[in-house]
Amino acid sequence: MTYDVLIIGSGPAGLSAAVYAKRAQMKAAVIEKEFMGTGQIALTDEIDNYLGLPGISGYDMGEAFRGHAEKLGVEFIDGEVIGVAKDGGLFTVSLGDGTALESRTVIYAAGAEHRKLGVAGDDLPGVSYCAVCDGSFHRGKTVAVAGGGDTALGDALYLTKLCEKVYLIHRRDEFRANKTVQEKVRECEKIELVLSAKVKEIRGSSKVESIVVDQGGSERELAVSGVFTAIGSVPNTAVLEGLCELEGGYIKAGEDGRTSCEGLFAAGDVRTKSLRQIVTAVSDGANCVDSVEKYLLGE
Ligand SMILES: Cc1cc2nc3c(=O)[nH]c(=O)nc-3n(C[C@H](O)[C@H](O)[C@H](O)COP(=O)(O)OP(=O)(O)OC[C@H]3O[C@@H](n4cnc5c(N)ncnc54)[C@H](O)[C@@H]3O)c2cc1C
Repeated sequence: MTYDVLIIGSGPAGLSAAVYAKRAQMKAAVIEKEFMGTGQIALTDEIDNYLGLPGISGYDMGEAFRGHAEKLGVEFIDGEVIGVAKDGGLFTVSLGDGTALESRTVIYAAGAEHRKLGVAGDDLPGVSYCAVCDGSFHRGKTVAVAGGGDTALGDALYLTKLCEKVYLIHRRDEFRANKTVQEKVRECEKIELVLSAKVKEIRGSSKVESIVVDQGGSERELAVSGVFTAIGSVPNTAVLEGLCELEGGYIKAGEDGRTSCEGLFAAGDVRTKSLRQIVTAVSDGANCVDSVEKYLLGE
């Protein structure tokens, strides 16, 4: 069987594409590697910037997005995509279990993954990329958050609900996060700012026990039970290397999702753009299906 479109990833971009593709009566399926995955939003405590849904939890939003697609009868395929190849006018999408699927077009919406600190000890148990998932393991303890953007500050605030104390470590003396969140952080007594500080090492025999920072040339060792890393992400584009043009690891594509490989479209955090958010991912999914329709009609 040949699909009209295979959508890779069931985050906001992939699910939005799925809803639009289903409504356009395309033969479509969504491939997702995580069980019932809904993408990065599942890691988010509270989302306060999606129009009409102030304060919704990431989990609830993910369930609503996926539920919408399921209600329309979208086909979901569990599996990790390990290869995408094009031969003639058709794509072959290979999964980790050996399955090969054929499609006339592909919407690639595989999002991004967390960037590691790249220091000794960054793989110790207790190093986490998800405050919402792992915060409760540190109830009543002291933890560190590394980063200076919205995610880092949001994580620090969330962790104060559970932890005794939170060190917020940032390599600059100013944050990139939005001003409202910055104000909340500066007013919070449980957060100690450790600014202009570079993480040098995470120490512990079998799990995290402390974090070492270099602050203006002098070294500080802070006793913590966990380190939450929020220093950005890297796009999941390894399987596309050689197939389409990438820029800094991101798929080079505009708002219509068209890539340098005809029939391959990119949606969400994986593509070159300046604002990587839920609202832009959802909009990319819709735009990609519009582009797929035009492509299939030969426009
Ligand atoms: C902690 C945190 C807080 C955030 N808070 C906000 C916020 O408040 N507001 C906001 O607008 N945005 C927020 N964001 C950003 C937002 O979550 C992303 O912009 C959005 O999720 C991007 O959607 P996406 O569909 O492009 O990718 P993703 O959400 O990354 O989804 C990609 C999906 O593809 C799957 N996948 C990856 N590789 C493969 C493969 N090889 N095979 C099969 N499946 C694969 C993944 O498992 C995943 O489910 C936050 C992000 C994080 C991490």
